[in-house]
Amino acid sequence: MTLNILHLYPKEMNLYGDHGNVLALKRRCEWRGIDTKVYAYEPGDEIPDDIDIIFGGGGQDSGQSKIEEDLMKIAPKLKAMVEDGMPTLVICGVYQLFGKYFHTHEDKMIDGIDVMNLYTEAGPTRLIGNITIESPQFGEIVGYENHSGLTYIENKDAAFGKVVVGAGNNGTDGTEGMIYKNCIGTYLHGPILPKNPKVADYIIEKAIERKTGEKANLAPLDDTIEERAHKVSASRPR
Ligand code: GLN
Repeated sequence: MTLNILHLYPKEMNLYGDHGNVLALKRRCEWRGIDTKVYAYEPGDEIPDDIDIIFGGGGQDSGQSKIEEDLMKIAPKLKAMVEDGMPTLVICGVYQLFGKYFHTHEDKMIDGIDVMNLYTEAGPTRLIGNITIESPQFGEIVGYENHSGLTYIENKDAAFGKVVVGAGNNGTDGTEGMIYKNCIGTYLHGPILPKNPKVADYIIEKAIERKTGEKANLAPLDDTIEERAHKVSASRPR
């Protein structure tokens, strides 16, 4: 079996090692004998029909402006895929643009594609530092955040997790990220998947189940190094 990964805008949307998430997905598949093919999607490209996982990373406001127009063009396709249960991970810049809009510090409105019920307003200061959250589904998750955008999710129960250390969606309501169907949106860079392997395996499992229609029984991996990376990250001061 080959899992096809769509990597949205790797040139503009790739901060703080976000590309490492694609490598983690690839490797964790390969270690289990599952092939992967990564499609680096840039403005103007075609989205292949047989995608199994979507990934999009973070980016500067200027980068988000650059992809805005193209993202609108592919919005119907992306929306249909997410609605159909496509395992999707979007970080920071692309997470914001999966919502209704991002109103930047320069008073620019960048339209989102409204896949997730949220909106983002730039705040007075950047929210920067190591972050730990507690997710009902995955337990403790660690990462790094750096954003000016304050994101407000309509349904707080749909948060990816509760902030333990750090700011998360907006620094005030204690929520971090959002899950809609199999789409996870989060501010966590780092990258998130290598040191939170449960999240990586969830995405792989959902992709296999969606592709085959059967339950995926992923072979367990030796995650000693991943767990060590997680612990070190969690112990770092903000
Ligand atoms: N440019 C956005 C912000 O500052 C997203 C930043 C990011 O992706 N790290 O809020």
